[in-house]
Amino acid sequence: MNYDYIIIGAGIGGLSAGLNLAFNNKKVLILEKNSLPGGLVSTFKRGRFEFDASLYDLMDYGSEEHVGSLQRLFKKYDLEIETLPIPYNIKIKSIDDKFEEVIKGEIDDWVLRLEELYSGSMSTFRSLLPLLKEIHEALVALKKGRKNIEKDFPNFIKYLDKNAHEALVDLNIPENTIHILGYLWIEIGSPLNKLNFIDFAESLYKYIFKRPVALKNKNIDFTLKLAKRLEELGGKIYYRSEVVEVRPTEEKQEVILKDGTKYFCKEVIFNVSERYALKNLIKDDYPFANQKENARTLSMNGLVVYLGLNKPYQDLKLYNYRYYEFQNLNSAINLKSMRKFSHHTIEGIVPNIANESASPKNTTILVLKTLYSEDAWNSVNKINYYKTKETLANQLIEEFETAFHVDIKEYIEEMEIVTPFTLERYTNNINGSMFGPMRLGYDNSIHRIISFEEEQIPHLNFVGASSIFGSGVDNAFYSGYYITEKLLEKERKDS
Ligand SMILES: Cc1cc2nc3c(=O)[nH]c(=O)nc-3n(C[C@H](O)[C@H](O)[C@H](O)COP(=O)(O)OP(=O)(O)OC[C@H]3O[C@@H](n4cnc5c(N)ncnc54)[C@H](O)[C@@H]3O)c2cc1C
Repeated sequence: MNYDYIIIGAGIGGLSAGLNLAFNNKKVLILEKNSLPGGLVSTFKRGRFEFDASLYDLMDYGSEEHVGSLQRLFKKYDLEIETLPIPYNIKIKSIDDKFEEVIKGEIDDWVLRLEELYSGSMSTFRSLLPLLKEIHEALVALKKGRKNIEKDFPNFIKYLDKNAHEALVDLNIPENTIHILGYLWIEIGSPLNKLNFIDFAESLYKYIFKRPVALKNKNIDFTLKLAKRLEELGGKIYYRSEVVEVRPTEEKQEVILKDGTKYFCKEVIFNVSERYALKNLIKDDYPFANQKENARTLSMNGLVVYLGLNKPYQDLKLYNYRYYEFQNLNSAINLKSMRKFSHHTIEGIVPNIANESASPKNTTILVLKTLYSEDAWNSVNKINYYKTKETLANQLIEEFETAFHVDIKEYIEEMEIVTPFTLERYTNNINGSMFGPMRLGYDNSIHRIISFEEEQIPHLNFVGASSIFGSGVDNAFYSGYYITEKLLEKERKDS
């Protein structure tokens, strides 16, 4: 059983890599341990509710006029994905700052409101926009392999090694506005004072110019569509096929399943957590593999509570798509508090606001999430696990009710609690880390692009949240495309 490429994991990165390779007529096989494609992007049923596990904002999709990278790739593969606009309707609250705002409307409305709150926000924000565009264009050039970009993109070089907080201060953006602009990064556990400005700028660029969208159908419909297209193009996916070892043999790589089945290929593509692969799957025979282990900081883990409520969102007064409560708007201060279980950081999503048919008529889905740095879970063992997860979920619901003055508890018809242990068991992400390795300090996506070739372990490649561009469905999908393009380019050069 010989293949050109074997991909371990049918998450978004693996499906994307498979699509591009099959599109280019390569013999490609995906081995997936679970029974369904999509990894974290999946759907589960409880009673009459169908809950989407993760994908609520699909970034870098764009509109008809401003087509994002993802939409472009879907078109290339002839994939029709139905999407819905996401209403910019976000409620943010910070306990320490006594801050409570609903951010509504288009980006111009936001900026106007920020100006009312903190004078100087509007002019400085407007001057940030051309910089975001320049950085985006420099990144496009860099991804295409252009070497000398200093001349055309001087600001890219100027800001290359600044952290996001430093750069925004440099641009005279008022301190409070900086913290509000950083709210999305608190949500994924990256403090602005450690996050590289280029990564921050590129995300903000996508947010403003390539609008995020919601999927019209469920997560599983999306991932089944990706898998079906891959198979139409000649690729294969074997489910319930857990890989336990990858090792080099003469001229080929050997991929071994739990039941002992062996497959051979020229190149292996890992869509699993890099830390997990280096620790558990890749044996010592590959140069540099061991040194790479632990070289990255894993993102936080967390608790997600999926609630099926038996009332429409209007009656529950849940009018916003997203809700955030932070202890402190300053990401660095806020994240420090996340070492303990009680830290008052909650994210709530009401998918029905973007999609009326997200749940049965006259019902609502509410997804609550909170993050912890990994040591918070050290005291949890198999004896106190169930009690801890129930207690934390109930605390989360009560805090959400208090923070946003709503009644939820008495309308709960279905509830599912996902802990770091659930996520680790399902995806093999070490410690159930939710967003792969963080892009912090020098380990940011620019350095990852620049040092890609030097750092590569021969014949072993990584796509998905563990790869160059970090987590998020857009980044995971794009990484699958980017890495396989590099491999195809190398093949062409070698032949
Ligand atoms: C609660 C939550 C909400 C999120 N919300 C959003 C959102 O709104 N928008 C967004 O863009 N992103 C969101 N994300 C992030 C996004 O879901 C992930 O970044 C992305 O799906 C990661 O994809 P991946 O390609 O890295 O693969 P993963 O989803 O990690 O999949 C890896 C696959 O590998 C398989 N596997 C593991 N080990 C083996 C093995 N030994 N053999 C075979 N197969 C194996 C797993 O079963 C899995 O299918 C969210 C994440 C979470 C947890």
